[in-house]
Amino acid sequence: MTVNNKIGIIVDGDFATKHAPPYPHPLFCSYETPLRIQSVLTYLEKKGIFDNDRIIKIKPKLIEESVINLAHTKYYIDSIKHLSSLGNGLLNDEIFLTKDTFELAKKAIGGTIQAIEYVLNKNINQSIALVRPPGHHALRETASGLCIFNNIANSILYLREKHHYDKKIAIIDIDSHFGDGLVQYFYDDPSVLYFSVHEFDFVEGDVGFINELGAGEGRGTSINFPLPLNSTDEDFLEIFDILDPILKQFMPDLILIAAGFDMHFTDPIGNCLLTTISYFKFTKKILELAEDICEGKLIYILEGGYSLIALPFCIHSVITALFKEEFKKPSFEYLDFSENSKKIEINKIKSSLKKLLTNYWTI
Ligand SMILES: [Zn+2]
Repeated sequence: MTVNNKIGIIVDGDFATKHAPPYPHPLFCSYETPLRIQSVLTYLEKKGIFDNDRIIKIKPKLIEESVINLAHTKYYIDSIKHLSSLGNGLLNDEIFLTKDTFELAKKAIGGTIQAIEYVLNKNINQSIALVRPPGHHALRETASGLCIFNNIANSILYLREKHHYDKKIAIIDIDSHFGDGLVQYFYDDPSVLYFSVHEFDFVEGDVGFINELGAGEGRGTSINFPLPLNSTDEDFLEIFDILDPILKQFMPDLILIAAGFDMHFTDPIGNCLLTTISYFKFTKKILELAEDICEGKLIYILEGGYSLIALPFCIHSVITALFKEEFKKPSFEYLDFSENSKKIEINKIKSSLKKLLTNYWTI
């Protein structure tokens, strides 16, 4: 059921220039750089994506500070604002601040809201919000894991509050890391399904176990599919065995993708072995599901993805799948990881997860 066959891309030059990690570069923080967006925009331009008449470039929505307050405490918002005004500095090992941080993080929320509203208003069919800093680790009262404000949680709370939009929403988080911030906003909310696939790295203290299923009325609507380290394309796509039937039963009105691309094998932070083929096939399949379930209302919001080589190709693979065109793997992905498949472990995880989910879903 197409509206006008258009895909919106949220683009703003500030995301490609501002909130640059301070020098000398602290290793971890330095990966969340404006070059991420610069590399994507340069490649999309080179591929003529913005000349395609199905693509519409959209600016982020300008939002009031009170919108941030829907997802974050006033004290925390004021702290980020104040610390930004002081200029470059490190808040902790995982968070840096610049004079532009507060405004850019606010703009990332505005970009996410815009991407969703354009789809809901049927101006476009799907959208991709090329925003940063990412959001899915951010908590109500604190920044975490390179994230300042929780872009997706904030946008959902905005829809609920400002538009009285009360329909069901599915969030599918494909970032290599568990969205420990995002999940908490909706852990007991039966109207938001949170499905996360992530590398399982207990050594670093990550959570996102299979038995974290939500609470109260929301029990069964938080679903974690942890992948062993070094999982491959074949392993990643196993998620559909669980995701497909659950989405068809949940019947969301909207599907949001917390689109991290740090499971790519070149990513400096992620520890998986995915290629662009995973992101292409994932998008192809999720688009089919969205068209069956919710008139194709599908929104990608950029989260992680720190390889400046891979990120542009990953985004391009998503756009190609949304175009319903064929995608050819780039030549730098010549490595063959099929021998590394973690099929046996994945099957074990899958059957344990299915057993837990049968209490809530027909699976
Ligand atoms: Zn990540």
